[in-house]
Amino acid sequence: MPCFRDTLERLLKKRAQKMLEALTYDDVLLLPQYSDIRSRSEIDISTDLGNGVKLGLPILASPMDTISGEKMAVSMSEAGGSAIIHRYNTIEEQAEIVTLAKASGAEPVGFAVGVGDDLLHRANACLSAGADFICVDVAHGHHIMMKEALTLLRREFPPDIHIMAGNVATVAGVNDLADWGANSVRCNIGGGSICSTRIQTGHGAPGLHTVSDCARTDRNVAIIADGGLRNSGDIVKALAAGADAVMLGSLLAGTKETPGEVHTNSQGQKYKTYRGMASKEAQVDWRGKYSSFEGISSTVLYRGKVANILDDIARGMRSGLSYSGARSLKELYAKAVWVRQTSVGLSESKTHITTRDW
Ligand code: IMP
Repeated sequence: MPCFRDTLERLLKKRAQKMLEALTYDDVLLLPQYSDIRSRSEIDISTDLGNGVKLGLPILASPMDTISGEKMAVSMSEAGGSAIIHRYNTIEEQAEIVTLAKASGAEPVGFAVGVGDDLLHRANACLSAGADFICVDVAHGHHIMMKEALTLLRREFPPDIHIMAGNVATVAGVNDLADWGANSVRCNIGGGSICSTRIQTGHGAPGLHTVSDCARTDRNVAIIADGGLRNSGDIVKALAAGADAVMLGSLLAGTKETPGEVHTNSQGQKYKTYRGMASKEAQVDWRGKYSSFEGISSTVLYRGKVANILDDIARGMRSGLSYSGARSLKELYAKAVWVRQTSVGLSESKTHITTRDW
């Protein structure tokens, strides 16, 4: 009969074997490869998320109240991407934002819904206002309430409506959401710049690992790398790991097109608010109280037009594809060769001019 300690030791050993090593953006680099691409104009960064949603630029603006309103939807569309109108408003307000964006010619425009009671009303109102796709937007998407929401939406609306859903952290989550009716799935739990989920709950998985795990799906579903992307290099890595598009908050925050006022601080600097939708501040604004909070509210310096930021990102992406000798996102995924870098390698990767004359 094994003693308690023996049993515990065996259990811990078994657990340790099950513990996966998970890398993220700064842990790795893509190896430069032979390229016959003479001009960046030969590089196509368009993507097809399935069921009618095609983007010239594989970037989605996050459904957050300090990121995606009608102005963001219009500018994202002009750049070839798309915005998902946030759901932290009344049904009428959200549908009005969709109408304004579609009246200005934005296409495609998505809108977020939760999994609560107003799900069908919101979806009906926004689709009637001309929205192009639905995003079922919850923090823990691999959940029975997501199954119920997707089943209901698939029953109520025509099959050619694209439904995005999330967030999940595993390929099992992607497979289930796809089987329940999702055409695309937002992948990453706890990686967002304003997110404190991993600290509050101990749950999540490093962002790049999540994308590469989720991309192993055998379902016909698009993978959206959501959150934690800090520059065009991270975006290229996410796409090379198997994402079909990325979703951005922080990189678009503080721009002219985000909802909210521009403020000026005591040093004369202009700034705007950027906050997690599960932050205390956001919860109090939208439902008058907060329960557990898994995000923070912050400020970012005002950055002018989002189009300039998107131009810089697109240039960085094209250049990234060219280093892998890839003319398309599919080719990038197929050709990607990864190396792991140490923390010393990471400091070498960052700009680092010497300050001393040797
Ligand atoms: P960012 O691009 O790193 O700023 O991350 C944006 C992403 O963070 C969003 O698309 C959401 O998936 C996620 N997110 C938004 N609000 C919260 C929050 O309050 N807590 C955790 N994650 C959040």
